[in-house]
Amino acid sequence: MTARESYYKPKSISIAGVTFKIHYKPINDYGLCDIDKKLITIRDSLSNQETLETILHESLHACLAVSGLSYLINNEDTEEALIRCIDSLYIPIVKNQLARYKKNITKN
Ligand SMILES: [Zn+2]
Repeated sequence: MTARESYYKPKSISIAGVTFKIHYKPINDYGLCDIDKKLITIRDSLSNQETLETILHESLHACLAVSGLSYLINNEDTEEALIRCIDSLYIPIVKNQLARYKKNITKN
C-alpha cells in the first residue's frame, strides 16, 4: 500500500461511554473482544472493508457485554449467531438507509 492510499484503522471506539482500545495484530481470527481489558484486536492484514466489518462485529460483542445482555444469553454460540444475524441482515439495512438519507438530504 502506498503512502497515498488510506487505511481505516481507528485506535479506539466508545461504547456507551466505555472506551475500548483497538489493536491490530497478526491473529488467526478476524477479530477478538476482551471485555475485561476493554480491548478489541483486529487481524492486521484485513482490507479496509473487512476491518470496518470486523470492528462493527466486535463492537456488538462489546455492546452485549457492557449492557449486561451477555449474561442473559450466557452461551457463546447463541451470542455469535445473534451478532452474525445483525451483521448480515441489519447492518446492510442501516448502511443502505444512511446512504439514501444522505443522498436525499444533500438534494434539499
Ligand atoms: Zn463474534
